Amino acid sequence: MRLRRLGITMLLILLGGCLIPETPLIPVKGASSKDWNSQTFWYEPWGASGVHKGIDIFAPKNTAVIAPTPMLVIYRGDFFQGGKVVVGLGPKWQIHYFAHLANIAPDTGLIATKGDTIGAVGDTGNAQGKPAHLHYSILSLLPKPWLIDASTQGYKKAVYQNPIEYLKAQ
Ligand SMILES: [Zn+2]
Repeated sequence: MRLRRLGITMLLILLGGCLIPETPLIPVKGASSKDWNSQTFWYEPWGASGVHKGIDIFAPKNTAVIAPTPMLVIYRGDFFQGGKVVVGLGPKWQIHYFAHLANIAPDTGLIATKGDTIGAVGDTGNAQGKPAHLHYSILSLLPKPWLIDASTQGYKKAVYQNPIEYLKAQ
């Protein structure tokens, strides 16, 4: 069964989501668009990184973080300022990055199905001392130069996708 599920997810990812519309979930259980600031993506100034290349979804500590889309889990563990993180490869060659987790779901395998719990909202990494939140970034492995604009580090928008736009597609 596990192998079959892996095969189906691989197929979904390789098809690039072209045939099956991607209807993502907000990656924090029970969250809505009220739980992030609409200006949070590319907000500046933003510490050492200059601009905020993702969104922060606020929720009580230990709220479940769920896979917004089927993903191959390619990294789970500690990652610099991100604290405890999960990184997944989803459809359309997009990397989904979940940071500041209180913990990582112990039973996360190679595959996360949409809606699977992958961890819990926390304040690890450089979120220590701040209200618990999920930092969520999406990086496209296929650069999209038409998204580049004149903002600070605007050329990086070819890679860093706006999660608010992505979640609106649902
Ligand atoms: Zn953030």
